[in-house]
Amino acid sequence: MIDLQGVTKEFLKPSGEIHTVLQGINLRVEKGEFCSIVGPTGCGKSTTLSLIAGFEKPSLGTVRIQGEVLEGINHRAACVFQTENAFPWKTVIDNVSLGLRLNGMPKNDAYQEARRWIEKVGLRGFEGHYPHQLSGGMRKRVALAQCLITQPEILLMDESFSALDVHTRHLMENELLKIWEETSASVFFITHDLEEAIALSDRVIVLTAGPGATIKGDYKIHLERPRNVAEIRFDRQF
Ligand code: ATP
Ligand code: MG
Repeated sequence: MIDLQGVTKEFLKPSGEIHTVLQGINLRVEKGEFCSIVGPTGCGKSTTLSLIAGFEKPSLGTVRIQGEVLEGINHRAACVFQTENAFPWKTVIDNVSLGLRLNGMPKNDAYQEARRWIEKVGLRGFEGHYPHQLSGGMRKRVALAQCLITQPEILLMDESFSALDVHTRHLMENELLKIWEETSASVFFITHDLEEAIALSDRVIVLTAGPGATIKGDYKIHLERPRNVAEIRFDRQF
């Protein structure tokens, strides 16, 4: 469903030199697949997501979504970033309903749907709160609800849980898996934690150190569904 063929991405350095970040990436991810991307810092993981989101264009090669070459922004995709997604001046319910409102849904309907998602991510009762009144973990929940409410076919997560304490991170991983089981979204999950990648994913893609990063490994992980991170994670108690 998502098909990168011969994707090379170059940036122009201020000095005028060409910096090749990714070199000839071939990657095909099917609908509903949960795919982690790991690799050393600066190797091009975030750049790969930007190419799939359509924020960046490949210098060479193509990104195809459902067989069609991606031109411009990928409207089938939603991103949960490492940093904040929510607008600080909007309440939880306004942040979560925003995507639907922008798609033209009337406020009452959008609010009703937003309440459903707020509940799904465990934030019932916090509808009227502003982001600064929430903990980091709660803000991640808002970000997830904000993305998932539009029912994206592709969910792009860039170190989304990295800043969380271990306990909250495991709770969020389980929330994510539960929600993902209910949807048929393809997930790209960037992490520096190989254990997290293995615990969550169908597949772990390993990029080589840049410049000119390529795919070093593409590992299929065989996991039963539904998954529970607590059971999958190696003998860790929490
Ligand atoms: P990290 O694990 O630290 O987040 P990463 O694997 O996500 O690293 P990227 O953010 O994809 O790495 O960056 C890869 C390289 O591409 C870096 O050297 C970065 O400086 C460069 N780069 C990324 N985006 C741009 C841009 N818009 N303009 C110029 N260079 C860029
Ligand atoms: Mg990055």
